[in-house]
Amino acid sequence: MIGVRTCIGCRGTAGKAELVRLVWNPGTGTVVVDGSHVMPGRGCYLHPGCAAAVVKRRAVARALRRPVDGSQVARLLGVPD
Ligand SMILES: [Zn+2]
Repeated sequence: MIGVRTCIGCRGTAGKAELVRLVWNPGTGTVVVDGSHVMPGRGCYLHPGCAAAVVKRRAVARALRRPVDGSQVARLLGVPD
C-alpha cells in the first residue's frame, strides 16, 4: 500500500501521517525529526508511543546504519535515558 511504513519500535505498520520520521543529518552527525516528511537521506519511522522502546533497543542506529548517539535520540524524542 502506498504511504505505509513500518515502525522501528514495534515493527507494526501505519500510514506515514501517524508516524514520526527521523533522518540522519550528515552535516551535524545527529538525528533530526523530519516533521514534514520531506528531508532527503535515509530515514526511519516510529509511532510516537514507541519512542521509549526505540531508545531502549537502539533501533535508530540499526535502521539508519549510522553511529547514532543514543542519548541524543533520547533527548530528541523526549525519552529519559
Ligand atoms: Zn510502533
